Amino acid sequence: MPATKKHSTIRLILGDQLNPLHPWFDEQRDNVLYTLMEIRPENEYVTHHIQKITGIFAAMRRFAGHLESEGHHVHYFRITDPENLHQFGGNLEMLAKKHHAERIEIQEPDEYRLDEVLKRALEQTGLEWSATNSAHFYTDRSELADMFRNKKSFLMETFYRNMRKKHNVLMEPDGTPVTGRWNYDAENRNKLPKGHIPPPPLVFSHNTEAEYNDICKAQLPHFGEIKPKAFPWPLNRKEALEVLRHFLEYLLPHFGTFQDALSDEHPFVYHSRLSFAMNLKMIGPAEVVQATEEHWKAHPDSISLSQAEGFIRQILGWREYMRGIYWAKMPEFSQLNFFGHSRPLPDFYWTGDTPMRCVSKAIRQSLDYGYAHHIQRLMVTGNFALLAGSHPDEVDKWYLGIYVDAFDWVEITNTRGMSQFADGGIVGTKPYVSSGSYIHKMGDHCRNCRYNPKESIGPKACPFNSLYWHFLERHREKLENNPRMGMMYRVWDKMDGEKRMALLNQASDFIAAL
Ligand code: FAD
Ligand code: SF4
Repeated sequence: MPATKKHSTIRLILGDQLNPLHPWFDEQRDNVLYTLMEIRPENEYVTHHIQKITGIFAAMRRFAGHLESEGHHVHYFRITDPENLHQFGGNLEMLAKKHHAERIEIQEPDEYRLDEVLKRALEQTGLEWSATNSAHFYTDRSELADMFRNKKSFLMETFYRNMRKKHNVLMEPDGTPVTGRWNYDAENRNKLPKGHIPPPPLVFSHNTEAEYNDICKAQLPHFGEIKPKAFPWPLNRKEALEVLRHFLEYLLPHFGTFQDALSDEHPFVYHSRLSFAMNLKMIGPAEVVQATEEHWKAHPDSISLSQAEGFIRQILGWREYMRGIYWAKMPEFSQLNFFGHSRPLPDFYWTGDTPMRCVSKAIRQSLDYGYAHHIQRLMVTGNFALLAGSHPDEVDKWYLGIYVDAFDWVEITNTRGMSQFADGGIVGTKPYVSSGSYIHKMGDHCRNCRYNPKESIGPKACPFNSLYWHFLERHREKLENNPRMGMMYRVWDKMDGEKRMALLNQASDFIAAL
């Protein structure tokens, strides 16, 4: 593209807006210049997993290449380009001058912080600008904020049923849910049978040395493991569709059944591994949901409704619901700390170096793959961080950094809300805390652990057990009247006084030693 060519409009594409089906690309227009930017502050506001940065840069570069191959005009700022000013405003101004552009267009960012940054940057250019919908989610930003405005809590189940009706997903023509049941959650709580081996995940083997070397050259902070010559995540729409097909064919038949299972050997169990591709918008939630419903209908003998419903609920329900909470409650949500927790996150969150087998496995796996499934995030690392009294800011930073799929709009609502209950009950009706018995029930980690999930006091006692009671006791004032917690307080109150004291001491000693 000649440097002096006039483009009256510049369109900015963010690193998580890699949707080749966006209406922007319906027609090829010579007066439009697309731009993508690898910006230093965007990669430094928390320390990210190396696979996350590499994956986003690699997907952005391939997306720019795809647009050019379709005849669009593109200016790409690499992290190491000398002309890159590492500010959206500065780079846009420079391009606007060079191409005599009169207006700038963006797709609405999903993140509150970035929304603010971009508004300032666009004002700085002095040019006319506008924002359009990213054409990805079922619901748009303002619709959700309106729905949640002035509500203390809005149940996910109510939201999910509305979404099912509105988008006619798993519905009968008369407006009732197929088979008459909305929710199969109760059937989705099995551990893997002994010796059961889930099908292997579909992993790619991309050469991402160029991106990795640039990240090292630019000295971007990072952590975690990577094999730059064998990068495993999908990097474009075609590959995202392959991951979806793989999921439907091999994993959906047991997804729901084992959705909550923890496994010492199989990190991905029956999970789809679609979140990275979906959050970068290489593939859309509606097409994933539709393909799942169609696949279930086409295979009634091998796929029960509980599998398809369990999966669809995560995307049509949880994913959209979390985004709704985010836009209704930000920026205040990011400051909430209901329990007033103040401890640092233990050092082993960066190494996995702890004798607690379940925690060590979840962290090691996160460092190796930038991935852990939902129950590992919620009931292992999240549960432990909450029981230990970690500051939600610390917990947020860790989750935002370590997962390849972590973006503020979905990370913070899950972490600060669902997992840490720092919102005091906006997302969930009670804290997701458990003793070792839940982890023991849902998987096989305990077999290989130094601790015993059935012991609560003494050197072999599972730390989750005493920490659980310690948590309940120290937050009694805040939780006792929660109708879903009352029963556990009654159990605690009936316990022998000496035992209670021993449990509290055991937990205090453990926390002090962290
Ligand atoms: P699957 O189990 O195959 O589920 C399918 C899809 O459903 C996922 O790809 C995801 O898009 C969606 N989904 C499932 N659960 C949720 C949920 N609770 N909220 C939103 N979408 C959901 N998800 C992210 O995408 N980014 C995050 O940063 C993130 N942080 C989390 C932090 C904590 C503490 C917890 C408890 C959960 C978090 N989740 C996050 C939700 C969930 O754990 C991941 O979406 C999921 O593990 C991704 O793996 P998968 O694609 O194999 O999911
Ligand atoms: Fe985790 Fe406790 Fe089981 Fe060990 S015994 S794996 S710490 S739940």
